[in-house]
Amino acid sequence: MRDGLDRSISILQGERPAPLAGSGYPQDQADAGSTLSEADRTEAVLHSARAQRDEVVAALARIEEHSYGKCVDCGLEIPEGRLDARPDAARCVNCQAKHARRRR
Ligand SMILES: [Zn+2]
Repeated sequence: MRDGLDRSISILQGERPAPLAGSGYPQDQADAGSTLSEADRTEAVLHSARAQRDEVVAALARIEEHSYGKCVDCGLEIPEGRLDARPDAARCVNCQAKHARRRR
């Protein structure tokens, strides 16, 4: 799972235009519009792939610490059904819902 994400991230990074690659003049905002939104989309996908990778890495770390499968917030066991659906789940359904609400 982590290897797959690593591949996606490196592919996305390859697609991304290099920041300020040698162009010594400011780009026209209107002309750059379409290119910019394309880059923004790639950036958004890249961001979520990175975030998911972080979750997977954190899950792997929890396996190392033998705390995998326990909710990081309340410490209760995460039901196996949930771990099957989301092997990188760090929280039980209740805490994940609270966490998601906090982030918004
Ligand atoms: Zn919990």
